[in-house]
Amino acid sequence: MSYQVIARRWRPKKFSDVVGQEHITRTIQNALRQGRLAHAFLFTGPRGVGKTSTARILARAVNCPNIDLHGEVEPCNECDTCRALFEDREMDVIEMDAASYTSVDDIRRINENCRLSPVAGQRKIYIIDEVHMLSKSAFNAFLKTLEEPPEHVIFILATTDVQKVPATILSRVQRFDFRPVQPADVAPHLKKICESEGWPAEDEALWLIARRAEGSLRDAEGLLDQVVSYAGNQVTLEATREVLGILPGDLMAEATRLLSGHRMAEVPAYLEQLALRGVDYTDLLKAMQGYWMDLVFLKEGLPVSGRMETEMQQMKEAGADLSIEDLFRLIRLAEGLEDALKWSTAPRVRFEVSFLRWATLDRVATIRDILDRLSGGEGSAVPERQAMTASQATAVSSPPPPPAPIVKPAPIKAETTPPTPPVPAAESTPTNAAASGEVDLETLRARWGEILAALRKRNQAAAAMAESSWILDSFDGRKLTVCCTMAGKFATDRMKESLPALAAAITDVCGITPIMAAGAPRTDVVKPVEKLAAKPPAERDDLFNSLMNRFGGVEIDPKKSREPR
Ligand SMILES: [Zn+2]
Repeated sequence: MSYQVIARRWRPKKFSDVVGQEHITRTIQNALRQGRLAHAFLFTGPRGVGKTSTARILARAVNCPNIDLHGEVEPCNECDTCRALFEDREMDVIEMDAASYTSVDDIRRINENCRLSPVAGQRKIYIIDEVHMLSKSAFNAFLKTLEEPPEHVIFILATTDVQKVPATILSRVQRFDFRPVQPADVAPHLKKICESEGWPAEDEALWLIARRAEGSLRDAEGLLDQVVSYAGNQVTLEATREVLGILPGDLMAEATRLLSGHRMAEVPAYLEQLALRGVDYTDLLKAMQGYWMDLVFLKEGLPVSGRMETEMQQMKEAGADLSIEDLFRLIRLAEGLEDALKWSTAPRVRFEVSFLRWATLDRVATIRDILDRLSGGEGSAVPERQAMTASQATAVSSPPPPPAPIVKPAPIKAETTPPTPPVPAAESTPTNAAASGEVDLETLRARWGEILAALRKRNQAAAAMAESSWILDSFDGRKLTVCCTMAGKFATDRMKESLPALAAAITDVCGITPIMAAGAPRTDVVKPVEKLAAKPPAERDDLFNSLMNRFGGVEIDPKKSREPR
């Protein structure tokens, strides 16, 4: 027997075999169980996600005499009716591709034939694929039948382009939207195939295929076919990369590690390696942007789809010293270079020069870092490079206290409810040397800059959040209540998670370990930096203007600049 491609051999035979569309198969099974099946369905969704397969399973289920409506509601796949469908000799199921039969006459034939009773089963099922290809007059001819179909007929229309299906049709069908199949569903499916075929397979390779298939299960199975025939009935990461032409993830990790750590000495060897591999620099830049964007998500604690746990760990380590601002800047630089390479006659040189320059770039400093440095009296004597480097700023032994948070004047009509009594955080740090009478709220606020620096050493992300949106609200000698100036559960949850780190930073600086509590959000408080930026230019003080002049600053909207481009 000749080789059958995976997609064909593994075509789902039961509703439970359909991958990633449970929301649809369950609804259809329930309708079958309750005897409330519609007369016309529309299956929409991208290619290769299971529309036609589901239509065929439904066609079998409708006529299978052995279906157990009280049990699993699946066709038996063994009776004569079911087998006839597998062997394409079932008279009551008519499949047609609207791409080849688009005319009015084709539809008229359906209209006439569907009036005839089914040959063997109880129902006659028409599966019309790519239904959006029908001509306008064909749709009109079809409409009448769709409005009043004979009792014994079920129409299943399928399309990849629902926009082209007229509204008159849409209103007469029960519509099911098939989703792109997620890598997290595709990879286990591929693993199941490999196991049952007896092909040794590496998980990383299967994930790579799952990602590359971009939601199409059929594409994923096709790619698996290619890898298996290339590598001889096994699925290795190496072979998968070669077949798919995918750049190894460690190339991206290595680039990130070099840029993150300013490892200039190692850059030439890396560039040499790229050249030896014959890497396409445009592809590499695209992959880098995707990698860094995912790293931003990881740093923000947001879910990243399609990467394995080990890979995500590797990403975090590689980019440990890069802030989110640094990553956004790198993404912009890579994007710009990708554009420039389109017109370059010497892409390799262009890439190498740019990459070298990126490796020398200093960290993006926040305005607050610069303010701290300047108000510390380290004026013009500080070399620019040092002043711009946030990591060095943290090394300063005792930065001066930052200005105290400015409280907005109370609005005439109190629209915001006053903060509720603080709720102790679940992750409160147990006290050990608390109740020190010498440290009070004013002391903590005065040493906030030092505390931030200590926190930054422990947890950069927490320090960034603390700097921009946390305030020390109250302290009774034991319990310290911290509030977030941003509303929303997300901000508060992130703050709660980081309170133990803040407590440890306070211990580092002040020698006490307060019991930490998260207070209600204080959206009535404006942090000094925001306040400064929010002033109209005429009202800005000399400090701001001197900053702008010193660094050749350009005003940007901090919210907009965080948006990924
Ligand atoms: Zn059957």
